[in-house]
Amino acid sequence: MVSLDTKLGGVVGKASTTALRSAFEFETVGDLLAHYPRRLEDRGQLTNFANLQVGEHVTVIAKVVSVKNIQYTPKGARRPTFRSEVTITDGERELQATFFRQPWRKGSLAPGTIALFSGKVTVFNRRRQLQHPTCDILGHGTDIDEFADLETPRWIPIYAATAKVTSQALTDAVKQVLAVLDDPADPVPDEVRRSHDLMPYAEALSKVHQPADPKEWHDARRRLRFDEAFVLQTVLAQRRRLMMSLPATPRQPRQGGLLQRFDSSLPFILTDGQRRIGAELSAELERSHPMHRLLQGEVGSGKTVVALRAMLQVIDAGGQTALLAPTEVLAAQHHRSIEAMLGPLASAGMLGGADDATRVVLLTGSMSAAKRRQVMLDIASGVAGIVIGTHAILEEKVQFAELGLVVVDEQHRFGVEQRAALTDKAGFTPPHVLVMTATPIPRTVAMTAFGDLDVSTLRELPAGRARVQSTVVPTAERPQWLERGWERVREEVANGHQAYVVCPRIGGEPESAMQEAPADDAGPPSRPPLAVADVAAQLAAGPLAGLRLFMLHGRLPGDEKDDIMQRFAAGEIDVLVATTVIEVGVDVANVSVMVVMDADRYGVSQLHQLRGRIGRGSVPGVCLLVTDAPADSEARERLEAVAATTDGFELARLDLENRREGDVLGAMQSGRRSSLKLLSVLRDEDVISDARAAAESVIQADPALDRHPALRAALASLLASEQAGYLEKS
Ligand code: ADP
Ligand code: MG
Repeated sequence: MVSLDTKLGGVVGKASTTALRSAFEFETVGDLLAHYPRRLEDRGQLTNFANLQVGEHVTVIAKVVSVKNIQYTPKGARRPTFRSEVTITDGERELQATFFRQPWRKGSLAPGTIALFSGKVTVFNRRRQLQHPTCDILGHGTDIDEFADLETPRWIPIYAATAKVTSQALTDAVKQVLAVLDDPADPVPDEVRRSHDLMPYAEALSKVHQPADPKEWHDARRRLRFDEAFVLQTVLAQRRRLMMSLPATPRQPRQGGLLQRFDSSLPFILTDGQRRIGAELSAELERSHPMHRLLQGEVGSGKTVVALRAMLQVIDAGGQTALLAPTEVLAAQHHRSIEAMLGPLASAGMLGGADDATRVVLLTGSMSAAKRRQVMLDIASGVAGIVIGTHAILEEKVQFAELGLVVVDEQHRFGVEQRAALTDKAGFTPPHVLVMTATPIPRTVAMTAFGDLDVSTLRELPAGRARVQSTVVPTAERPQWLERGWERVREEVANGHQAYVVCPRIGGEPESAMQEAPADDAGPPSRPPLAVADVAAQLAAGPLAGLRLFMLHGRLPGDEKDDIMQRFAAGEIDVLVATTVIEVGVDVANVSVMVVMDADRYGVSQLHQLRGRIGRGSVPGVCLLVTDAPADSEARERLEAVAATTDGFELARLDLENRREGDVLGAMQSGRRSSLKLLSVLRDEDVISDARAAAESVIQADPALDRHPALRAALASLLASEQAGYLEKS
């Protein structure tokens, strides 16, 4: 009985097993069969020498015309050796294949032999040749046309191979395995398979490797691609169902409560999107199982207000809420702005506080012990309705009286584990969870990476937002543009506005810590990225002399960072030279210019995030993307794309397309890397939606998959490989 779990050793022989293990880490039959061919070659095309390009790695089928062994003495060697020169033909043209130190080739490649040759095309003595190709004998014939009669299939699978384990060796190993494999159970239930017109699993496994024609290959791949989406979506459907089965405390809105009074005190009108999503959240908070929702929206689309309104509903219903921010700067800023927005509603127990006011507390790692104790007390007693902080909130010592809602700001900085830890804080009844992100996530990625969350999207920006004009400043060609940029900064400051200058590095570190970019053979000599410390010094002494210029970066002590941000927000600082600490959520509406130095060192989404820090009020913004990357370079193209649009969704897509597929999910959430071979989360939107719907209905009818053991096994093995992924990382 040979199954997908059978070790390769018993099936393909010892030598192949060792080779396959060391080349690809294959252990089982299933590992080998999951190594799908990269493409199919038409044997007909392989017999034509006309299109061979020098320098290319090619595979050809050819007939041996003649073979001779030539004795020669390699340079520096004392003894002579043999070189075999094999002349091969496609029936019309000739090509030479050369083998070194393998005189036995003369015997095995007798004239008339037909074989598959695979190697790099080189030129020797002005003739094209294949140097030391791999060589698989297909048969013997007198005429090249007799290929048609050979056993060899017309369509030849080409595998990702190594020097030791060739594509042909893989074909052979797969052939041996498929010959003895017992049909594996099909993880996709029959009714799903039929309604999606998919071939059975066993058939797909065999046809993806040994198709009779490209259509079979295509259909087999379609089936296996569906599997990848389907198994993943079944995991997620099961998780969603589990969430739905958990209890949560319903949090009804209260007449005359904080939320109502907050709404009537708002200095602006909520956008339609804010209102619609607000209603969605409100309804979910009233249910008796936990909300688990992702709120995504452009930078500046007003997510915080949406979250705050949900928090107030929970407080009105007797619960506490936590807001998790990725940095201390951002936590402190949320604290200030939320307290300001709430006004008397947040002054419980203080003079001028409203009757049933709540309290907003900040909890960070850099707080004094005394202050910290007081805050912990407020949290434990339930006086603090809103607790804002970094992951310090996740520490075990922090006890909530009644945690009802957790809001996680900028999800991409938080892992799944942290989400789980916070859920644990609420004891037996899990809190409602709202995750916010300003990095727009294409629908399919959301369905895959965040498939266990429901998604709400805020598309429009509040009315009256001024536009941000972005320009690429190429210092190599147009140094005067940068000079003009600094002038612009001075003008904006003269008009009462402020500026950010962003650099990739802090600076002032020991030489050894400086990361040199790897030198490119062709490119200009590389230099370390520009540093905050250097740029600030140069600007203060030169183009921005006389302005109130400060530095902000992650190495400053927490209270100093906070102090600088507060002074900046109060308008006491004109120019902030900073690292990307300002990237996430920092909100000073009066800033009208941002100069990003070495802009090519940032990714598309990151630049978009950075740019979101300006144009937040009614002041129009200017963003200068400064780079010395040469015109026509990929980096320049990327920057031009960022400058050309402010549509975060379009940019997110661009960003994802620039990454390797595996990294797309990796960047979103750990794990799930190895499981996707044929499925592209960017291209296969239809497959993913179909699979999601199918998975949903299967789980609805059979939540524990008792009637679908093969699917259950597929889930278990996916989860096991994910688990392995986590382990490797830590
Ligand atoms: P995000 O977190 O989505 O980037 P914020 O919630 O920080 O955006 O909102 C950005 C700014 O817009 C804040 O100053 C906020 O007070 C303001 N704002 C939010 N909603 C509106 C609205 N409907 N009309 C006008 N201004 C708004
Ligand atoms: Mg925000």
